[in-house]
Amino acid sequence: MLTVFLPRGLSVLEISEQDLQTSNTLGLPARARVLHIRERSALAELSALVHTGERVFVLGGGSNVVMAARPQCVVAKVELRGVRLFAQEPDAWIVEAQAGEPWHAFVAYCLAQGWPGLENLALIPGTVGAAPVQNIGAYGLELAQCVHSVLAWDLHAARQVALSPAECSFAYRDSLFKRSAAGRWLILAVRFRLPRVWRAQLAYPDLQRHPLLQGSEVSARQVFDAVCDIRRRKLPDPAVLGNAGSFFKNPLVPVLVAQALQARYPGLVGYAQAEGQVKLAAGWLIDHAGWRGRRIGPVGMHAQQALVLVNYGGASAEDVGHLARAVREDISARFGLVLEQEPVILD
Ligand SMILES: Cc1cc2nc3c(=O)[nH]c(=O)nc-3n(C[C@H](O)[C@H](O)[C@H](O)COP(=O)(O)OP(=O)(O)OC[C@H]3O[C@@H](n4cnc5c(N)ncnc54)[C@H](O)[C@@H]3O)c2cc1C
Repeated sequence: MLTVFLPRGLSVLEISEQDLQTSNTLGLPARARVLHIRERSALAELSALVHTGERVFVLGGGSNVVMAARPQCVVAKVELRGVRLFAQEPDAWIVEAQAGEPWHAFVAYCLAQGWPGLENLALIPGTVGAAPVQNIGAYGLELAQCVHSVLAWDLHAARQVALSPAECSFAYRDSLFKRSAAGRWLILAVRFRLPRVWRAQLAYPDLQRHPLLQGSEVSARQVFDAVCDIRRRKLPDPAVLGNAGSFFKNPLVPVLVAQALQARYPGLVGYAQAEGQVKLAAGWLIDHAGWRGRRIGPVGMHAQQALVLVNYGGASAEDVGHLARAVREDISARFGLVLEQEPVILD
């Protein structure tokens, strides 16, 4: 155990070097100095540590990170727990969950309490606190649509703030927390606004086709079960095959660019977005370029899901970076599109 005495001489943080291989779903070998955040009382001290010039990386469940073997920072592992009904509005429940709550268990808990609305996001790995960072999304729903506010600790200013959805600047797999102010915020809790009048969100084609959702009236439980069923069939389980979910974001391009590409590649899947943009399916591009099922050393693009980079065993962050670069360069050369990596690098 390494004990860090902070400048004011008042406080002590217990930081110890730990193995993080089981704390990242890619299963990459990593050791770093780790501080477990189980109480808010550690936060002022953590800010004092930042002011000494120490770099702090906030970690949740490690399902969206590529870890270097020896990250040169202190890893603050957020383990704050608790869920409560924070307020009842005439038309909605406001539910608050602490950042360290496992996301899927939280979705299931809300459903069981009679507060539906999050079921399209079921079975996404990770914690509640990380969910706003990349504005998690799946099956036609984005987290931003359900957020009431985000309670965060500003590591630079050493104070707690409550941010509205507008202040979080949510965008496709993006937010304030991931973008300009990365490394500044530690999300403490998220409040969700879940309307009392529930409406099924079934725009996504996989849901429309699912046998559980064919009746004239479907329940939130059926949507939850259908989403879990689809995900279990489609995505590799990180407990069996290390991965971080989708490895690249779907590129957003202007309509004219999408039309030109689709004229050349008639199968290219694209989804119309607001403001004249189209979201192209990165998985289709990677598959079409021949990367599905292809391996370089211990890593490869998954045989069923071309967008998912997997660790077949024994991979390092360098192996992951090497494959990611090769895929990105090939997609750029073939289609003139730049693929952006989704998982964050911890180095
Ligand atoms: C099999 C699989 C399927 C997936 N499917 C989806 C999907 O459908 N949709 C989707 O959007 N994502 C998906 N993901 C990605 C991932 O699950 C989400 O991004 C998730 O929110 C990450 O949570 P985490 O706790 O593991 O975060 P981590 O991986 O620990 O961290 C991710 C980022 O969030 C930051 N962070 C974590 N906790 C906090 C906090 N409390 N305060 C501030 N910053 C924090 C970290 O610094 C880092 O930048 C998938 C991943 C896997 C492995």
